This record gives sequence, structure tokens and C-alpha cells, in this order.
Amino acid sequence: VRRIAVALLHYPVLDRAGQEVTTAITNLDVHDIARSAYSYGIERYFVVHPIDAQRRLVERVREHWVSGAGRLRIPDRQFPMGSVEIVSDLAEAHATWSDDHPAEIWTTSAASGGDVLAHAEARGLLREAGAKVLFVFGTGWGLAPRVHAKSTRRLAPIPSVRPDGYNHLSVRAAAAILFDRLLGNPACVSEMPRPFEGSP
Ligand code: SAM
Repeated sequence: VRRIAVALLHYPVLDRAGQEVTTAITNLDVHDIARSAYSYGIERYFVVHPIDAQRRLVERVREHWVSGAGRLRIPDRQFPMGSVEIVSDLAEAHATWSDDHPAEIWTTSAASGGDVLAHAEARGLLREAGAKVLFVFGTGWGLAPRVHAKSTRRLAPIPSVRPDGYNHLSVRAAAAILFDRLLGNPACVSEMPRPFEGSP
């Protein structure tokens, strides 16, 4: 099976007008995606922000749960928060996660169209041997096109069941749903459970 990490980008992402912007860190994104990633055996969670003050804010939140008062209050939160790593840009996350083989970058978006990788096919690829994978999620109105342009794969959007096609999920919800679709252990389906790769 592939070893997997996830990155949350705050730049370059788009604003409502389709311009490139930098978004602010949302504390909930740090916690929720850390817990979802850890639950699905994803080994590292890179929170990516170009502004030092924002990176330090995430560092303080991480330390609170890994070695501070948070650890005393809710000990089991230290493990998912311990998998959080704060970096300046996607290149740094990619370099950190890659080893002798560059990790593949798999981007995500609510937008359909283009050459996207269906979830069932993605699930199969992740169960084979191969290069490490770095899932990339955006904030704001989504990842800037130049991030998708550098990706190895672009995952198909989580589709809407609505006639109007509305599928703009929060990044926390989208991450959890995609993790479950791609990595989940559907006990209801007679598939071999995914052997756990992460550190205990
Ligand atoms: N319109 C934006 C887009 O198409 O990505 C929505 C951005 S949403 C607030 C932030 C992030 O959540 C996106 O960058 C993407 O990573 C993820 N996301 C949101 N809805 C999604 C969906 N239906 N399928 C896959 N990813 C989704």
C-alpha cells in the first residue's frame, strides 16, 4: 500500500473573484483534519502557510496539545496533533515527505471537468505498492490552477446528489469524506482491511 500524507494550502488559493489570495489559518481545520488523517492512517499532516506569524500560531496550538495543558486535559489528542507539521509552501511539504522517490501530488477540488481520477480507481492505486502520495486540499474558493497544474493526479470531486450540483463542502468535511472513500475500511464490503502503515 502507498504511504500517505496530506497538505492544507492557504496560498496560492482563489478568492470569490478567482484571484490568487492567501487565507488565514482556521483553527478547526488544524484539529479536525489532524484527527481525520490520523484515524485513516495518514502519517503526516502539513499545514502550509507563507506567513511566519500564522505558522507560529499553528505551532503554539500544536505544542499546547502535544506537550502543554491540552495534553494533560485530553491525552489522546497528542497523537493526531503530533502528526501536524507547519511549513511555508507546498514545495517544502513535498520535499519533506518525499524520500529517494518524489512523492506524487494528488490535488482535490469541488469543481468537475478535466482529467480527474475516479475515487474507485484512486482507491485501487493506493492499495498497490508505489511512490508516496501527498493529498493537497485548498481553502477559500479552492486551489489555484497552478497548483493543479503541478499535480500528478487530480482527484474527482465528491459529487453532489442535488439536481443543481451543489457540492461545495468545507475542507474539513471534504477531507474526511475523501479519506473514507479512498482509505476507509468498509466493513460492510468483503475487502481485506487496509494494513496499517502509520506509527502506532
Ligand atoms: N470551489 C472550491 C473548490 O472547487 O475547491 C471550494 C473550496 S472548499 C471551501 C476548500 C477545499 O475543500 C477545496 O480546495 C477542496 O480541497 C475541498 N473540497 C470542497 N468541496 C469538495 C468536493 N465536493 N470534492 C472534493 N474536494 C472538495
